[in-house]
Amino acid sequence: MSVAAAGTAAASDVWTERRRRVRELRSHHGFARQLLDFYGSLLGVQEKAFDDAAASRPTAEKLCAYVAELVVPSVIDVSVAAGPDSMRHELIRRLEGTNPQAIVQTWIDGEDQPAVDRFLARAALGPVLEALGAEARAVCAGPRDALHCPHCGGPPQLSYFAPGPEDLATGPRYLVCARCGAGWGFARMTCAACGEDRSAKLTIFSEHGTTSGEHGSVVRGLQRVVPAHDPGAVFPHLRIEACESCRGYLLSIDLAADPGAVAVVDELAAIPLDLYARERGFTKITPNLMGF
Ligand SMILES: [Zn+2]
Ligand SMILES: [Zn+2]
Repeated sequence: MSVAAAGTAAASDVWTERRRRVRELRSHHGFARQLLDFYGSLLGVQEKAFDDAAASRPTAEKLCAYVAELVVPSVIDVSVAAGPDSMRHELIRRLEGTNPQAIVQTWIDGEDQPAVDRFLARAALGPVLEALGAEARAVCAGPRDALHCPHCGGPPQLSYFAPGPEDLATGPRYLVCARCGAGWGFARMTCAACGEDRSAKLTIFSEHGTTSGEHGSVVRGLQRVVPAHDPGAVFPHLRIEACESCRGYLLSIDLAADPGAVAVVDELAAIPLDLYARERGFTKITPNLMGF
């Protein structure tokens, strides 16, 4: 897989790749099957939103109204039909008082909002920002610095290592934006929340037997996350990158270790790693689309 396909993928391939990876992971990851089935249904809505936005190209001024009127209703429909019970109940309870434009605007502004609102805004706005590119991303609020998306100012969702030259070694590190999905280059062994780069403060958790230690990083506190009797690693290409200074963490995906991985999909399905990090007292820099 090329860097482009992992980060700023060619438009038409993105959705095919995400669906392929959902099918692959749902057959292996029983613990995430319900979530992946829902995400698979949501991908249909998001792909249509992406195609429609690419065709009609709403202006940046109309971005919020466009997403609220044309995409949010479809996201609500698929979520009520196929979402987890807790989300369905919450959506049905609140549908009357829902103001889609305010919900989307709050996410564009980067302000706090209830989890179900954030989900709706994020699921609806994400594919439209992916389709429209720079001008639309520019209206989003947030700092443009190393720790935030250079395009929209959003926070990092995940980290990934691109395959190196000739796929023989791990390549450069990137962060992926939680709001617009763009990727940007970022230093290895540096906290994506606070910028901490003292190795003694950075802890990596991965399954026993992975090759994290061969990537030139300092591996402290390397522990097996899944039960020891488990045959083979469940997440050989994933690790938790945690910071003792700010107690934040994110998941990192090594695309050289699993060329079939699609970073945003693999991150969603790695629920046991999130639970493990939480048990250790770390807080994810940005909860993913599904709230983990
Ligand atoms: Zn962004
Ligand atoms: Zn930190």
